[in-house]
Amino acid sequence: MKRIVIKVGSHVLTENGAIAKPRMLALVQLIAELKTHHYDVILVSSGAVSAGYTQLPLDRSQVANKQALAAIGQPLLLKMYQEKFARFDLLCSQVLLSADVFGEPEHIAHAKNAIDTLLKNNVVPIINENDTVSIEELVFGDNDRLSAHVAHYFDAALLVILSDIDAFYDKDPNKYSDAKRRVVVNRLEEDELNAEHTPNNEFATGGIVTKLQSADFLMRHDREMFLASGFDLSDVKAFLVEGEHKGGTLFKA
Ligand code: ADP
Repeated sequence: MKRIVIKVGSHVLTENGAIAKPRMLALVQLIAELKTHHYDVILVSSGAVSAGYTQLPLDRSQVANKQALAAIGQPLLLKMYQEKFARFDLLCSQVLLSADVFGEPEHIAHAKNAIDTLLKNNVVPIINENDTVSIEELVFGDNDRLSAHVAHYFDAALLVILSDIDAFYDKDPNKYSDAKRRVVVNRLEEDELNAEHTPNNEFATGGIVTKLQSADFLMRHDREMFLASGFDLSDVKAFLVEGEHKGGTLFKA
């Protein structure tokens, strides 16, 4: 089995402030298919704040409100995942982590034991940041960095980031129509890693820079990252199932 991490951003999972259920179903279907192709999949999912907002519309500009919304939304998010995975006879599970887990070798070992046991029993771990004790995701990163740590410390060969953008370009394709896709990236320059953050809407706090920082971290640790569209899963499917690199960007040192 090849262990991979798939990270889905809040931008992809959300539509008009609520969870985009057809997109969630497409993602779950992809994971079910990957499991029949010898992949062990760990999912890192955002979306708790959006799910909470559908129940209680608190002002999201305040971090404490976002934490409260995440606390309300996380069980709702998991319930939606459970229902969808059940359609494919799969169990899923909730693993809430904070970034500081990765600073403590003993904590990493405990968490990895749990992840290994879930995967061994064919259960899909769904990881999110524990937003009530740690607010890194809410303020910065939208789980991009968390998912890179998950891939490295839980020993996955590849992190797949499913984004609102279908690849990494030589400049922002939403601003420049002549932007060209980078197909394979072997190394990233300092200025690319320190560029201004480009959050796209109120639910997307990541932008491309945190994705590049994640790619850089993984390449330095001999792991790979694939950035592709989360709206249309055909590129990621082609890459993982058929071994064909049609769209998307592969970061590989
Ligand atoms: P998500 O919510 O899917 O995790 P974000 O919206 O946070 O993703 O980040 C992706 C956005 O980054 C794109 O929509 C795009 O506008 C912006 N961006 C800026 N520069 C680039 C670039 N060079 N290549 C691709 N996307 C870029």
